[in-house]
Amino acid sequence: MHEWSLAEAVIATVIEESIKEGLEEITKIKIKIGELQQMDTEIFEFALNEIAKVQDVGLLLSEMRIEMETERAILKCGVCGKEWAFDETGLGEEEYEAVHFAPEVAHAYIRCPSCKSPDFEIVQGRGVLIDYIKGSGK
Ligand SMILES: [Zn+2]
Repeated sequence: MHEWSLAEAVIATVIEESIKEGLEEITKIKIKIGELQQMDTEIFEFALNEIAKVQDVGLLLSEMRIEMETERAILKCGVCGKEWAFDETGLGEEEYEAVHFAPEVAHAYIRCPSCKSPDFEIVQGRGVLIDYIKGSGK
């Protein structure tokens, strides 16, 4: 169910930002979803639309289109500083699925391609962010 609480947070932020920028009608928002974010994007999109419908903000959200894009996951080695993309880690399908489902197990499967250290962090590709909000104002 966390798709719904995430969607609620996104819509609340969109409204807040739009008011700050003096927008009266939002035409489009773009949302980036991390490759390692554990989420059903169909449910998320549905939730966004449903939540947008019941907001008491006049016409602000009535014409809003939602575009979603997956953000590639980037890993960074804590030892040598090398950065590499999660989809270049050469994992088999089963390992890829395991990590995708639970990013915290990544360290069991992934090693730095340069120095073979299992000590790395996920620098991009977790979480949800609003890339932009487009609309018209006064
Ligand atoms: Zn390294």
